[in-house]
Amino acid sequence: MHFRVDTPCPAFSNDIMDVIRIFLGSDAVLSPEDPEAVLTHNEQDGPERLVRVRLSLPPQEWTAQRTGGHGATPLEEKRLHKRLVKQAVFDVCLQAFGMTPPWGSLTGIRPTRLMYMALDRGLSLKEAEEEMQREFSVTGEKASLLAETVLTQRSLSAQQAGEIDLYCGIPFCVSRCAYCSFLSGEVGKGAQLRPYTDALRYEIRRVTDLVDARHLRPRAFYMGGGTPTSLPEPLFREVLEELKPLLERCSEKTVEAGRPDTIDRGKLEAMKEAGIQRISINPQTGHDETLRLIGRRHTVAQTEEAYRLAREMGFDDINMDLIAGLPGETLDMFLETLQWTRSLAPESMTVHTLCIKHASLLHLWEACLPDGAMVADMVRFGRREAQSRGMRPYYLYRQKYMAGNLENVGYALPRRESLYNIGMMEETADVLALGAGGISKRVNTATGKILRAPNVSDIDHYIQRTDEMVRRKEALLEAGL
Ligand code: SF4
Repeated sequence: MHFRVDTPCPAFSNDIMDVIRIFLGSDAVLSPEDPEAVLTHNEQDGPERLVRVRLSLPPQEWTAQRTGGHGATPLEEKRLHKRLVKQAVFDVCLQAFGMTPPWGSLTGIRPTRLMYMALDRGLSLKEAEEEMQREFSVTGEKASLLAETVLTQRSLSAQQAGEIDLYCGIPFCVSRCAYCSFLSGEVGKGAQLRPYTDALRYEIRRVTDLVDARHLRPRAFYMGGGTPTSLPEPLFREVLEELKPLLERCSEKTVEAGRPDTIDRGKLEAMKEAGIQRISINPQTGHDETLRLIGRRHTVAQTEEAYRLAREMGFDDINMDLIAGLPGETLDMFLETLQWTRSLAPESMTVHTLCIKHASLLHLWEACLPDGAMVADMVRFGRREAQSRGMRPYYLYRQKYMAGNLENVGYALPRRESLYNIGMMEETADVLALGAGGISKRVNTATGKILRAPNVSDIDHYIQRTDEMVRRKEALLEAGL
């Protein structure tokens, strides 16, 4: 649907469209020349600001208005102003499109961040939860999920001064899932594997020197990708071997084993020898027909075998990723998947909502995607299942284009939460990232200022410019924050 936005604040036009897209998805586009709908915003200033919004969708028209106070600083003023306009637009859309988005008018901000900001203003967790419902129209269900998540996070230790988290990226996979948005080459071609791991090992050595020279204390390590275990065993071992001096000092060590069809005894042994204590084996679904449809070339039986082998070899901290809203899946199928996961008994479980970034894929699957209400039920049952197994939500994030405007939630048994994941999602931890596409970061948690030093994403460029990637990290560590 084509929209024209008439507003005295053109800088807010994109934010206004983002709110409209909560209801209409990517079908809502800003197109002032030939609009099918017009959103008009005007306002009156005073001790209180009055924002009025009219949505005209011939032959119908809806109006809404909101009042709000001013901020003490220019930044605060802008934030409150934008929030008020977005909320008024949300109110008018609520009347026009007749649905209740679970996360209300929230777009482009981590819900947990808003919750922490409310707590910093002196609100109790309960008051912050209520404010999320009142100010942003977040549903009670999601506000309580948010409060629970924050409660878990606050029970865990944050990164201390001088500590550093480490990320190591392996941007390869054995085949490409239809919905994959990660950087992942095709391992099958193989030609880049040796040059890539050689470059990565070089970067690891240089970064180990950086860590030592600055007396940084490695805290949490995470190897992701792609699928790290898609590397052939000898190369996988070489990388882990190179990481050992860093790994020995980390209290938390995770490898995203990801695809069950890349896990075998040799790679599990290599991880054991390197001291990896947490791995992720991701079935996504307990249904072979869905796996075929989404192009994940493994079976449910392979997942079961990978779990059996990992347990046999002593891995007692296994994470499992599931996706709600996969094409062709019904609520019953998702419930069967949850039931099946019980037999595998992972220590943590991430319930993702399908997120499709490519419009072509959306059209291809359109006829068989579960609707938003069904996906909402799936994630609701996912939460209940996690609760019934004694898990608590410990991180939560949202992306654009998620089915039903929902969320991804990491649940874990007590003391099985990944501190790396929390630091990453909440942007509260300094990270040195190795490998193509990794983003190193320094965070000032007092001011919220974040400095980033990205590695290039292109694998060939990374191989050619590894020295430059190290220099970027040196500059990051030296920069004032
Ligand atoms: S297993 Fe993961 S990294 Fe590999 S293609 Fe699928 S989504 Fe992408």
